[in-house]
Amino acid sequence: MNTEEFRKNGHAMIDWMAEYMDSVENFNVRSQVEPGDILSLLETDPPFEGESMDGIFEDFKEKILPGITHWQHPSFFAYFPANSSPPSVLAEMLTSTLGAQCMLWQTSPAATEMETRLTDWLRKMTGLPSGLSGVIQDSASSATLCALLTAREKATDWRTNKEGMRSLSSSLIVYTSEEAHSSTEKGAKIAGFGANNIRLISTGEKFEMCPKALKKMVLEDISNGNIPTCVVASMGTTGIGAIDPLKAIGEVCKKYNIFFHVDAAWAGSALILPEERWMAEGIEMADSIVFNPHKWLLTNFDCSAHFVKDPDALIRTLSILPEYLKSREQEKVIDYRDWSVPLGRRFRALKLWFVIRSYGIKGLQEIIRNHIKMAQQAAAWVDADPDFELVTPRSLSLFNFRYHPRKLYDLCDIDRLNENLLNRLNDTGRVYFTQNRVRRKYTIRWSIGQTNTKPIHVKKAWSVIKQTANSLLDN
Ligand SMILES: *Cc1c(COP(=O)(O)O)cnc(C)c1O
Repeated sequence: MNTEEFRKNGHAMIDWMAEYMDSVENFNVRSQVEPGDILSLLETDPPFEGESMDGIFEDFKEKILPGITHWQHPSFFAYFPANSSPPSVLAEMLTSTLGAQCMLWQTSPAATEMETRLTDWLRKMTGLPSGLSGVIQDSASSATLCALLTAREKATDWRTNKEGMRSLSSSLIVYTSEEAHSSTEKGAKIAGFGANNIRLISTGEKFEMCPKALKKMVLEDISNGNIPTCVVASMGTTGIGAIDPLKAIGEVCKKYNIFFHVDAAWAGSALILPEERWMAEGIEMADSIVFNPHKWLLTNFDCSAHFVKDPDALIRTLSILPEYLKSREQEKVIDYRDWSVPLGRRFRALKLWFVIRSYGIKGLQEIIRNHIKMAQQAAAWVDADPDFELVTPRSLSLFNFRYHPRKLYDLCDIDRLNENLLNRLNDTGRVYFTQNRVRRKYTIRWSIGQTNTKPIHVKKAWSVIKQTANSLLDN
């Protein structure tokens, strides 16, 4: 394709993109295709001759779009948001046009220096302590893996990197709560801790990690000759949005010299609101913190902000220096390749720069604050309705609920009823929710956070929920 054709197609696609943003509400939120539907539409063999962009783009619209779940639909209430925004999309276009691979300072000085500056902007915006150094990872899972690896090396004075886990005579132990995200378990397995050495600490009234139970478990491990190595606390668990008490957990970590990582993947963005900073009390004790601007800060996936207290420990854990990666500046600059598992790195700071400058802190605060207000309203409606049950208290813009009709108290299996309700809701294409299990109850999670979600969408969703629930009882 020559640049003349690129220009022509590019303009047409920008028009399509703007129109999509304006009309995304007309699509079914969750794709309604069956498994294999899209596969059967795709040619089994790659073309030998090149094809025209017109044909390719037509196929995108006709064959691919029906198989897309519209994460930018304002009635997307499933999982957590992966919200985006026009400035972020524009920056992604520039990033892909530059096509820079930003593994070293030298391979794009601006990318490295923007990453340093932009992670510091994020740190200031969220009120995180000074003295933290930031890096942008692809995902929170990667950041947590890096934290676990650093914890492992610190606990063994960098012996494991050299001699492997088998050289140790004691087991290294990871602690997290029973509500924590699966990425901790996955990271601990990858880092060689072993599933049996992950302790899931029990949770309290608000599903938060119980610091007393943590301490008890740590002492038990010490007396059994194990080495307490890393605690992963959650600021906003995935299922419920529970906030672990960081201060009390941090004190246990300090006392027993345990590496302390905070997973704030979703809730971290809400720290841009001063009124939500209570969640972060004690966070100055953390060795490592992660949150995802790609979830709730209008920045396209992928963009995960990882902050560390001691970057040298992270670098010492991950760095390798073959001849072909040496550069004459390396003593004077940051080479972010040493801060993450993959060598190759996208230029992710640019979209953050576009988003933060375009909205300002104020604009971003307004959007997140409104998400929280809408969730407050929705939770109040659910709570006030005698046929529904608010199963978990609202945390920021998330809560769990279930249908629990009065007249069917003993007669029916509430779990199955709610599973049916969820499927029916998602089959309408008008809303999209996902499920959870809370202390054995099957629940529907209501998570609000798409950039353009407005009170009207929440109101409509509540009426779809009530209608659909009623129709379930009728038949
Ligand atoms: C979403 C989430 C993750 C995983 O985030 P990725 O960036 O997809 O790896 C980890 N922890 C929590 C609490 C989450 O909500």
